Amino acid sequence: MSRAPRSSEASSTTRGEPPAFDLVLFGGTGDLAMRKLLPALYRRFADQQLSPRGRIIGVARSDIGRSTYVTKAEAACRLHLGAAFDAKQWSAFAGLIDYVRVDATIAADYGALASTLGSRAEALRLFFLSTAPDLFAAICRELAAAGIVTPDARIMLEKPLGEDAASAERINDIVGAMVGERQIYRIDHYLGKETVQNLLALRFGNTLFEPLWRRGQVQHVQITVGEQLGVEGRGDFYDRTGALRDMVQNHLLQLLCILAMEPPANSAADAVRDEKLKVLRALRPIGDAEALLKTVRGQYRAGLVGSAKVPGYLDEPGVSAGSRTETFVAIKAEIDTWRWAGVPFYLRTGKRLQEHLAEIVVTFHEVPHSIFDGPFSAQTPNRLVIRLQPDEHITLRILAKSPGEAMRLRPVDLALDLGESFKARPLDAYERLLGDAIHGNLTLFMRRDEVDAAWRWIDPIRAAWAADGTEPRVYPAGTWGPATANALIARDGFAWHDEE
Ligand code: NAP
Repeated sequence: MSRAPRSSEASSTTRGEPPAFDLVLFGGTGDLAMRKLLPALYRRFADQQLSPRGRIIGVARSDIGRSTYVTKAEAACRLHLGAAFDAKQWSAFAGLIDYVRVDATIAADYGALASTLGSRAEALRLFFLSTAPDLFAAICRELAAAGIVTPDARIMLEKPLGEDAASAERINDIVGAMVGERQIYRIDHYLGKETVQNLLALRFGNTLFEPLWRRGQVQHVQITVGEQLGVEGRGDFYDRTGALRDMVQNHLLQLLCILAMEPPANSAADAVRDEKLKVLRALRPIGDAEALLKTVRGQYRAGLVGSAKVPGYLDEPGVSAGSRTETFVAIKAEIDTWRWAGVPFYLRTGKRLQEHLAEIVVTFHEVPHSIFDGPFSAQTPNRLVIRLQPDEHITLRILAKSPGEAMRLRPVDLALDLGESFKARPLDAYERLLGDAIHGNLTLFMRRDEVDAAWRWIDPIRAAWAADGTEPRVYPAGTWGPATANALIARDGFAWHDEE
């Protein structure tokens, strides 16, 4: 039997010699660079997945030289990598690192970057914009003016990509004027998680689930991303953003797309992204009165997270007095397609929740008629739980006979523990995404039309909230959000997975 043609892009599993590269890391001294990006690059290097002919050039305003920057990067990698840090490997990796002081808004500063880059014709040039998005325009303008954007240069953009459809379009126009769409790598780091890859493997590498993956078999779906953390010193940023824009527009909708999309014809980036886009475009709009019925906004008050007493949102530094910004949101989403019509997708995310947890729960229909007695016989549907954090695993709940004479059923979990099965270290999301960008694989990055479609679904919800003018529902820190979030799902006869 013939197979679908493979993508001409490098796949993440079939890579040749790693290419020489110059990675310019704007925001090189920032939290994301120190906590995630440099440790991820170190690990890729230690795994011999980065070329020793690569360079990582940190860029920021701080007036520090290369050696201070390398020392700072080393301390961060030691801290965040723990036992995975190896001093010998580090000294080889440190040889790749450089630092250039640039104020992104000052044209004259780019000369120093240009001379550090020089002209290495063989090296792929990547610009990673790990700064606040209001600097993206200045960076793109000045990079182009300085003549350092090579014809095949790639740009990596961190979220948030705008704050609504119009502002995202402006950013995309500016970046798009500098390089082509196939050179733009818009990051949603959830897509780099091993379990999300496994969701693709589960759905499209097996025949088992496909006949079940639809209305008629699936009763409902829940996607929860809960954080125990509060605004962590970023109150000012968060207060202008809120949970809907910070989490739902990107991470939760991307998970929804992977879960709900039709099988792509192959694994090429655009084949996958075309299918995700169709899901976003098929989301039933939620606006006006509908928004008040199908969404819940919450804001945390002081409470206990674990055993720690934490202040309420309004007492966090940087948060404006009387702020109505939501720190929690729950939404009932519906996808108007033949596959999913009538299947509710409940999305829920928030700060200062009871658990640090990211999880997708697919609940199948109950048996039509139970031949067994007992509490677990009929109302305990099969359930597939895909856990993304804190640990990554997949479990399928089935009913089995409990040992003993009586025919009593109890739920048991078939668990897929990938660490046990493969004995291999899963890649951190940023390791995968940085590697994919260097190798030119766009599959796990968002295309412009996806970002646009996601904002177009989000914007009417925000507009309806603004027009409504009511306050978000309060919830004590350390709980699963306001009681109205339970009511949202209980109205349809279901309960959140953790509430059962
Ligand atoms: P951050 O800690 O505030 O770092 C900002 C970086 O930008 C610093 O290196 C800062 O260095 C540099 N910078 C600021 N103004 C500059 C200018 N005019 N010219 C050149 N460099 C400038 O922020 P972050 O937490 O790393 O986040 C960076 C971006 O990633 C943000 O858009 C954020 O929303 C996004 N993000 C962050 C995380 C995370 O976990 N931190 C997760 C997802 C997305 P100097 O002050 O020395 O210039």
